[in-house]
Amino acid sequence: MTKTFALPTSSRRQVLDITGEVAEIVANNDVASGMCTVSVPHCTCAVRINEHEDGLAHDILTLMDGLVADGDWHHNRIDQNAGAHLAATLLGNSIQVPVEGGNLVLGTWQRILLIELDGPRHRRINVTLICG
Ligand code: ZN
Repeated sequence: MTKTFALPTSSRRQVLDITGEVAEIVANNDVASGMCTVSVPHCTCAVRINEHEDGLAHDILTLMDGLVADGDWHHNRIDQNAGAHLAATLLGNSIQVPVEGGNLVLGTWQRILLIELDGPRHRRINVTLICG
């Protein structure tokens, strides 16, 4: 099954911790054991797993800037956001987390991060649960 929740982002680029929203969906859908996929149906944001720490969030966005800045990107001829598309491509639009006992199996410092690269926008996040 796939459940969807929505989240408004508030700036052009930001890193948001969505672990709580995902964990609530997992807990409310009787998945004792299985796999949780979190994905976004968008081309200019990403989902990753890492520590939610302000300095690291800044570093992730700075890294993406360095990789995609100031290119003669052809997509900019359409809507001037090629950098956001390219960064989203490099980061990826989905992650998977095992589920055991109705809980996400994450490391101590691991959080599920929505990385906005072309906000502010209204983003949808899909949580797909597979039991087994
Ligand atoms: Zn575009």
